[in-house]
Amino acid sequence: MKKALLLIDLQNDFCLNGALAVPEGDDVIDIANQAIRLFHQRNLPIIATLDWHPADHKSFAVNSGTQIGETGELNGLPQIWWAEHCVQGTKGAELHPRLEKQLINKLIYKGQNNEIDSYSAFFDNGKLSETELNSWLTSQNIKQLVVLGLATDYCVKFTVLDGLALGYQIELIADGCRGVNLQPHDSQQALTEMVQNGAKIIRLVDI
Ligand SMILES: [Zn+2]
Repeated sequence: MKKALLLIDLQNDFCLNGALAVPEGDDVIDIANQAIRLFHQRNLPIIATLDWHPADHKSFAVNSGTQIGETGELNGLPQIWWAEHCVQGTKGAELHPRLEKQLINKLIYKGQNNEIDSYSAFFDNGKLSETELNSWLTSQNIKQLVVLGLATDYCVKFTVLDGLALGYQIELIADGCRGVNLQPHDSQQALTEMVQNGAKIIRLVDI
């Protein structure tokens, strides 16, 4: 069965000094590069997702008259309000400068609709629209995904859960992920939830 590497949101704003820096976010870049080289050597596809918001995106506290970290509802869906991040075309939205971008075969953009947040690389949070990820994977006959990236408790988790629900076999490289951890155990809970739904937790050395 054909396998692909799926790199989640390895963008400047989620790394050191970024607008929405994930603790130790940078530490996954070297692991991502090692995984990229392995997949490239095996001639297997490498996909990277990008959170890609318009400046007026309503998940930003400043655009919704809320405070950063506050929770509430946006158009009927539970929402956490975030600092402005990954605004289309800005430095913060670019992939990390050390990431071996030239070996990436496909970019998937998400979060362009300003009315709804989009943690998963497959669908927005209300599953109202989908990205081209599933159709692209189907066109390439890919049934297995090896996933790593940022952040464990949001975009990695929802991508993995949606991927499992769509029937993909998923291995998660745990040492290639870091979490936001608004609550201290959020990442651990996310890992547990992914495993309960069928994901296999591995480490870089296992691929
Ligand atoms: Zn976002």
